[in-house]
Amino acid sequence: VQGYAGQTVAVLGLGRSGRASALALREGGATPVVWDDGQAARDSAHDAGFDVVDLTKLGAFAGVAALIVSPGIPHLYPAPHPVIAAAWDAGVPVDNDISLFFRSFATDDWDGFNTRPQVIAVTGSNGKSTTSALIHHILIENGKPAQLAGNIGVGVLDIEPAHDGEVVVLELSSYQTDLARALTPDVAVWTNLTPDHLDRHAGLGGYFAAKRRLFAEGGPDRAVIGVDEPEGLYLANQLSEGRADDRVLRVSSGQKLDGEGWNIFARKGFLSEVRKGRQVASIDLREIRGLPGAHNHQNACSAYAACRTLGLSPKGIERAMQSYPGLPHRSQHVAERDGVSFVNDSKATNVDSAAKALQAFSNIRWICGGLQKEGGLDGLLPYLGHVARAYVIGREADSFARQLSGADALVCGTMEAAVAAAVKDAQSGDVVLLAPAAASFDQYDNFELRGEDFMACVRAAI
Ligand code: ADP
Repeated sequence: VQGYAGQTVAVLGLGRSGRASALALREGGATPVVWDDGQAARDSAHDAGFDVVDLTKLGAFAGVAALIVSPGIPHLYPAPHPVIAAAWDAGVPVDNDISLFFRSFATDDWDGFNTRPQVIAVTGSNGKSTTSALIHHILIENGKPAQLAGNIGVGVLDIEPAHDGEVVVLELSSYQTDLARALTPDVAVWTNLTPDHLDRHAGLGGYFAAKRRLFAEGGPDRAVIGVDEPEGLYLANQLSEGRADDRVLRVSSGQKLDGEGWNIFARKGFLSEVRKGRQVASIDLREIRGLPGAHNHQNACSAYAACRTLGLSPKGIERAMQSYPGLPHRSQHVAERDGVSFVNDSKATNVDSAAKALQAFSNIRWICGGLQKEGGLDGLLPYLGHVARAYVIGREADSFARQLSGADALVCGTMEAAVAAAVKDAQSGDVVLLAPAAASFDQYDNFELRGEDFMACVRAAI
């Protein structure tokens, strides 16, 4: 990382991104001083040769050029981390690794990045990982060198030096877009917006503001925007100033978009590209096994649009989509036995993503429950018609089951009990689906372990 040579830069948080930031700063000639609230993290950073400095001490920011903050650290709500507050008090800019990545291009020579890669950045509430991984897969399959980085894939400062014509596909959370002072992707993708993580932003408005920073003036050359929510539509209209041009590609799952601009939408299982009012291409998405359900059709449209901005052909994109293997824990087909399918959607940690999973299938033996998020479960009620029976897990399984009014809900508590009961009840044509609509932390360290437990229980039970 250039731009800080000869200067002291503080790094708060010593996980993967914090350590990568410190290393990159050092390689760029800066002096990083690092801090973490955890003693163990500080000790290991010290052992790795980093200069551990107590940033909570009065005067720690004297002579410091910037503070680089890890994405897991609260910077605004419920309250800024005391070290962040101290940096602001001292007039020191607060920034993150994403920004270091984008700034490194400005100097034209960082870590072998002699040739600036093209960057496609993906943000939104749901579907970021799927859309990013799908874009990456399509590029690779079409012979375009590409790397996947950010929330998914490797850390943004850990990627291999980019080659000529290479594309970096970058998945960004709202925390990352909120903090980064430099955000200059070539193509920015907005998947959708639903209330999630509202605790760390000022309600929906703050969350929207955090994400839309990716589309600020001087930002992307091209924007791919899901317009099915008012916020996305507003953003698309604002960016295109009402004019039809090539800069903004509108995406919808469900609506026919046939305006003058550049539109990609999915309806009744078909993706259509309509440009200047003329149909350019159509793809039968029902044929694509790795992308089941309307929500994945939205992801397919966003990925298609992003790849079209790079000049890939509709046919080439379609062919690549057909071989997309899917991501673990996202609508992941796990097994099939006697006509019963087993699907692991452990990543459905909120009501909206679980609702999408319920819409994607029918005759569902639905394993749900866990640590509930704000907002209640009412968003699921319209889709209970797809559910044959719910098998509720988690410490608050009783209360969770009570909120599913109208559904046949069995309180199971553990994954093992839920899978066993679902397997016992299931008939040919049913889908046993893990889509918890809740976080996993009451029973698991993370959603991956929850999904793996589901798969292990399925293997044991069938
Ligand atoms: P993210 O990276 O934004 O969390 P993922 O692609 O990992 O998104 O998908 C997370 C969960 O959200 C999946 O388990 C799936 O149920 C659901 N999901 C995926 N794509 C969408 C979408 N476009 N809209 C709503 N929900 C989605």
